[in-house]
Amino acid sequence: MTKIAKEFSDPTITVDEVAKMSTKQLIARGNKFSKNYRVTGEKKFRLKDYPCDEESELGEEEKPIAQLFLEQGVKILSEMQDKLYAQDRWSLLVIFQAMDAAGKDGAIKHVMSGVNPQGCEVTSFKAPNSEELDHDYLWRCMKHLPERGRIGIFNRSYYEEVLVVRVHEEILASQKIPKKLVTKNVWKERLSDIRNFETYLNHNGILVVKIFLHVSKKEQKKRFLERLERPEKNWKFSKSDLTERKFWKSYMAAYGEMIKETASDASPWYVVPADNKHYARIVVASAILHALDSMKLEYPKVSEEQVVELQRLRQELLGEE
Ligand code: ATP
Ligand code: MG
Repeated sequence: MTKIAKEFSDPTITVDEVAKMSTKQLIARGNKFSKNYRVTGEKKFRLKDYPCDEESELGEEEKPIAQLFLEQGVKILSEMQDKLYAQDRWSLLVIFQAMDAAGKDGAIKHVMSGVNPQGCEVTSFKAPNSEELDHDYLWRCMKHLPERGRIGIFNRSYYEEVLVVRVHEEILASQKIPKKLVTKNVWKERLSDIRNFETYLNHNGILVVKIFLHVSKKEQKKRFLERLERPEKNWKFSKSDLTERKFWKSYMAAYGEMIKETASDASPWYVVPADNKHYARIVVASAILHALDSMKLEYPKVSEEQVVELQRLRQELLGEE
């Protein structure tokens, strides 16, 4: 039995039963499921304890159940987003980090498919341009933080500053930071600054959910080969992807320390097994639902006077010539 059967459904559950589940039941199931991958900094963390692959392929009988769970999750997400928007107090920042071909784009596309585009902004962060290099590294990210009532998605983020920049120290050298400030403590300082920055966001009503799509080196090879072999996927391949792959070990060390140092209860990391894309998307949807659920979102209440006034306006509209 795969993990889906064990944690998310159960061996006897049917598609009909899933279809009848209430929002509360679905969120509770999702929460139990995503908890396996949530890192909050309370326990000792080692990246190698987290799988890339949950027994990979879903059984034939599980596929429709998994599909339905995702569909239901996306529907609840869209209802919650509507309340988030109406309430206009909280906001949610979802950060995606991963090695190439781990499925960031697909996860964003599928999980956010039901949400109202007006309440959501996706920003991709590439290597900084010259204007961005003239500022501190959070500057370009600050400009895209979600407004109240909105969901912001970062496809890569300020975390690149302790990943690619750490793996390739020549990038750090090109960052125009005063020499005196670049000491052996630089990574420790950055991790601590990021932690504090996220606490600051939390204090302002912005919750942060951080997703690491944990793909294996073997699965990445398979996906790169597909990109090279299938004409419709050729455009996705970049020569530099192979260069980065050579630094796999250094990246994993950097990811491990990053997660350990920046995971907290209010801004958790999720180490999502990403070798199976369907599985990964359910974990991601569940993680986002968990964060939104913690906001206890409700539509703003209308006062009694407002109800009377709305009734009066309704009568006026009905009585129109
Ligand atoms: P895809 O390959 O699916 O299009 P991607 O996120 O890998 O998505 P690319 O344009 O291939 O997009 O890569 C963006 C590159 O920018 C990555 O290699 C990333 O490490 C790099 N990058 C992002 N932020 C920084 C930064 N602060 N400093 C240096 N490089 C960065
Ligand atoms: Mg890329």
